[in-house]
Amino acid sequence: MTSDAILFTVVFGGLFVLRIIAATIVFLVLLPKGDQCPLCDDPTLRVESFLFGRVMPWFRKSWCLTCGWTGLLRTGPLTETPATREPAARR
Ligand SMILES: [Zn+2]
Repeated sequence: MTSDAILFTVVFGGLFVLRIIAATIVFLVLLPKGDQCPLCDDPTLRVESFLFGRVMPWFRKSWCLTCGWTGLLRTGPLTETPATREPAARR
């Protein structure tokens, strides 16, 4: 009886963890690498985040000054010129 409960917990707990790992890997492959905004191609700024800065450092939480997009990018090569341009008007 008790061993069944343990087995159930281990199997479903394991599946749950595996699902999270698989989702993370798929997400990582799909995300664009570098610091370019997926909407307007301008360099984005890195946003401080405990989860994506320390726990999962291969993700880069980004904010685009030009179009206001925020989201995740993959850690990759950075654009030479920093985002110093005046923010353009929203389309
Ligand atoms: Zn943008």
